[in-house]
Amino acid sequence: MKYDVIIIGAGPGGIFSAYELVKGNKDLKIAVFETGSPLEKRNCPIDGEKVKSCVNCKTCAIMSGFGGAGAFSDGKYNITNDFGGTLHEHIGKKEAISLMEYVDEINISHGGEGTKMYTTAGSKFRKLCLQNKLNLLNASVRHLGTDINYVVLENLYAELKDQVEFRFHHQVDHIELLEQGYRVYCGEQSDDCDKCIVSVGRSGSKWMEEVCQELNIPTSSNRVDIGVRVELPAEIFSHLTDELYESKIVYRTEKFEDNVRTFCMNPYGIVVNENTKGIVTVNGHSYEDPEKQTENTNFALLVAKHFSEPFKDSNGYGESIARLSNMLGGGVIVQRFGDLIRGRRSNWKRIEEGLVRPTLAATPGDLSLVLPKRILDGLIEMIYALDKIAQGTANDDTLLYGVEVKFYNMEVNIDENLETPYKGLYVIGDGSGVTHSLSHASASGVHVARHILNCVQAAD
Ligand SMILES: Cc1cc2nc3c(=O)[nH]c(=O)nc-3n(C[C@H](O)[C@H](O)[C@H](O)COP(=O)(O)OP(=O)(O)OC[C@H]3O[C@@H](n4cnc5c(N)ncnc54)[C@H](O)[C@@H]3O)c2cc1C
Repeated sequence: MKYDVIIIGAGPGGIFSAYELVKGNKDLKIAVFETGSPLEKRNCPIDGEKVKSCVNCKTCAIMSGFGGAGAFSDGKYNITNDFGGTLHEHIGKKEAISLMEYVDEINISHGGEGTKMYTTAGSKFRKLCLQNKLNLLNASVRHLGTDINYVVLENLYAELKDQVEFRFHHQVDHIELLEQGYRVYCGEQSDDCDKCIVSVGRSGSKWMEEVCQELNIPTSSNRVDIGVRVELPAEIFSHLTDELYESKIVYRTEKFEDNVRTFCMNPYGIVVNENTKGIVTVNGHSYEDPEKQTENTNFALLVAKHFSEPFKDSNGYGESIARLSNMLGGGVIVQRFGDLIRGRRSNWKRIEEGLVRPTLAATPGDLSLVLPKRILDGLIEMIYALDKIAQGTANDDTLLYGVEVKFYNMEVNIDENLETPYKGLYVIGDGSGVTHSLSHASASGVHVARHILNCVQAAD
């Protein structure tokens, strides 16, 4: 089959490329190839009863399928250039924000109306943070919530499905350069296209590396973020989360001058497992629906680790630490902050006697046997720093789940159109290493679609 555009991956990057292409030119023949399932068929076998932990499905229903890694996310849609990726370095700060706002409007008109937008602008917490050596980053965040995020995806799919050919369970193995355009292989089957948008997210990072090697597209990579997920009674952070929902706070440690930051804050949320190719790490989300909310808030504390030459495998380093926690705990480990400080592993008795009821059934253990000293020291310093603006963060009963790892894709060499050195071959979203969030990934999709529409118009 011959298409005008083939999009590889149906995450936010792929979806918003398709959306904008269809909106701009109804005559284009567009296909989306996706490894995973349609939205309604994305079911993780973990039910908390018969299946309690990850069974390593061939295709992870949490990470793959229509909606990509973001489908069951908390749906925190951050409008900012301060975090979530470096899209602005390619397309400019103004354009990046304008595209994120544009996608926000689409989300609102597709089921997100009534959801709340929070902002750090003019917040009294900025001063409080600065007084305690903490830096509150600038952002506006719309909290869609896992439930509304799902509705938005359902509505987007309903709108696109008659105009775009979605092929699910269709994993692309190979991209071949043609004299004009590209040939995309899934096993024996192949399809041709004039333009190809690769939007394979984090789950497609290894494959993306192979494609870049094969096609000789330059890449760079040197970062991984490692830390824990903190869970505590929601009241402790409610003064911040009620006003800001998500506060991204950065602390520079005194000991090593490393940056530790809060990430992915989930008021009244739950802590969840995340499986990346058999490695179980921790994550979190929360629901907009009060019925599904818990009494706890969770957020990640992460230390960014940058490596210099000759070491290149920053993700391998993060994976090794995650594997160590999986080896000791059979998955994610949970520890009370008080036990960590006293140098002893946690056990169920002490956790059950504590003030925080865990929302994830993890294995009580000792994170000091897993995390390198430098990272652990940074996390402990940050917890004490946060205790000054949210008293109770450093309570003995605060739970720490480990490990949380943010793997970064190697950064693909793309230009201001997010185009590789090959004309008509684009790499966008988290798979490009340029974005790490729903908003930046979605915005990158719109940006590329508009560039393609301009090229098509110029050629007509
Ligand atoms: C649990 C969780 C919670 C999160 N919460 C938030 C949040 O609240 N806010 C936020 O901003 N970000 C959040 N994120 C991150 C966010 O989901 C991602 O940044 C975003 O989904 C990236 O979009 P993408 O389109 O680039 O990639 P993805 O969403 O990863 O989509 C890529 C798609 O490509 C498919 N694919 C991969 N390889 C191939 C192949 N070879 N052939 C065909 N298809 C392929 C995959 O199956 C996948 O569906 C969360 C992530 C997780 C895992």
